[in-house]
Amino acid sequence: MKKIIVAIDGFSSCGKSTMAKKLAQETGYIYVDTGAMYRAVSLFCIRNNWMTDTNIDQESIKKNIESIHLEFKQNNIGKTEIFLNGENVENEIRTLEVANGASRISTLGFVRRELVRQQQLMGIEKGIVMDGRDIGTVVFPEAELKIFLTASPEIRAKRRYDELKVQGTNIKFEDVFENVKERDERDQNRVESPLRKADDAIIIDNSSLSPEDQQTLLMNLFVQKTA
Ligand code: C5P
Repeated sequence: MKKIIVAIDGFSSCGKSTMAKKLAQETGYIYVDTGAMYRAVSLFCIRNNWMTDTNIDQESIKKNIESIHLEFKQNNIGKTEIFLNGENVENEIRTLEVANGASRISTLGFVRRELVRQQQLMGIEKGIVMDGRDIGTVVFPEAELKIFLTASPEIRAKRRYDELKVQGTNIKFEDVFENVKERDERDQNRVESPLRKADDAIIIDNSSLSPEDQQTLLMNLFVQKTA
């Protein structure tokens, strides 16, 4: 069976990472969550006061971007977690504040170029499932299997809201919904690598698809591409 690159792109909170993680588990491929990389850079900027509600200190971020070391490691139950300069920040990057910051710093060309460079290195030997916004268009335009995952904004906000509730976050549905719409708008309209479907990507709308059916669909496509 030949090794391939699987690129999964799509809107925020439409289940890309769940889908990508499962496929990686079933196939023994490496899973890379590129959203976590933008989130970790966002966290780093927030901690250093380089990003406030009203301002982004681009000069400081630019000067320090190469000192941001990102790494993925598996924990003892096989879950991939992201490390920022040696510190496990997997939980800390999952807040709305960090997500919103990630969506803002991901519009900066120099941030994208550095993260894309690191992502391309991770995929050099193939056998990788990577999810994000620009994987099939910019990071791996030559990926053998490209998926563009989508679902309605209401459904995505509801899923995100349920997840945050389970984690014990006290939050209003309306705030999550606004956050989803705001990030969609930014992802689609930024100048640098806006979110768009690659011409050869397969669209999966999972608004009314069960997780099992979605996984079967993906596995069938994977088998076809690796045969
Ligand atoms: O996927 P996730 O919600 O974790 O991504 C956080 C933010 O990072 C997104 O809102 C998006 O703006 C940005 N992102 C990106 N390109 C990627 C992955 C994420 O611009 N490849």
